Amino acid sequence: MQTYRLYSGWVTTLALLLIAWLVSSPGDTAPPARERTRASTEAPAEEASGPPGDVLLAGRIVILDPGHGGTDKSLGDFGTEGVGPAPEKEIVLDVARHLANLLRDAGAEVVMTRDDDVNPAQGTPYEAVPHGQLLARVAKAREAGGDVLISIHGDASADPAVHGTTTYYYHERSKDLARHLQTAVVQARGSRDLGVRRKGFMVVRDVPVPAALVEIGFLTNPDEARQLAEPGERRLIAQALFEGLRTYLGEKDGAEEEPSWTSER
Ligand SMILES: [Zn+2]
Repeated sequence: MQTYRLYSGWVTTLALLLIAWLVSSPGDTAPPARERTRASTEAPAEEASGPPGDVLLAGRIVILDPGHGGTDKSLGDFGTEGVGPAPEKEIVLDVARHLANLLRDAGAEVVMTRDDDVNPAQGTPYEAVPHGQLLARVAKAREAGGDVLISIHGDASADPAVHGTTTYYYHERSKDLARHLQTAVVQARGSRDLGVRRKGFMVVRDVPVPAALVEIGFLTNPDEARQLAEPGERRLIAQALFEGLRTYLGEKDGAEEEPSWTSER
């Protein structure tokens, strides 16, 4: 076994060297360092074009905004505490972290408005200001620039029977993003589709990029609160948001590329 491995290792090495020698010609210029690094860390050579997600997401800056965070309940740091074992701040951070991993694996850069159980205004000029944590999120998002923002929340209702998923947007430029995220989460969770709605939440209204706020489910509904307490459900939601974003970017890219084909290129 050992000998065979050594032998086959040798053969593979020799074959690769031969191929490398054959394909390299004096006129070839090496690809930029960044491309080489990316290709070597992300996918084997025969998959250089990669799955659609890599093509759409590589090099993008995605801002993820898990709602709430921190320890001061009077400031809304916990979000909805709900009827389940986990408060909103914990669930949405977990979803955002899973989503961040998926995006980074696909080559995107992720900026989180918080990546811990903290109020994002803490230590910023917005600390003592009303709605400071929202202003801090907006400031961070604006500073990051980026391509797109996804805010993640859990919903609440005085009526425990109310359940389902809703996605909010404000500017017209964000409507498609909201639609794709909503569809993906509803399909993945099998949750009730409460639709895509327009509302002036600061984190989607005051940032210069397409932005959507997803209320993944109601923490005041016993069934949804129980589901959202499960790690598997959070991973599933992250995967759905990832797919929804990819679908959105693919559609947007297609729409943008068409005119350039007919004119310049
Ligand atoms: Zn919330």
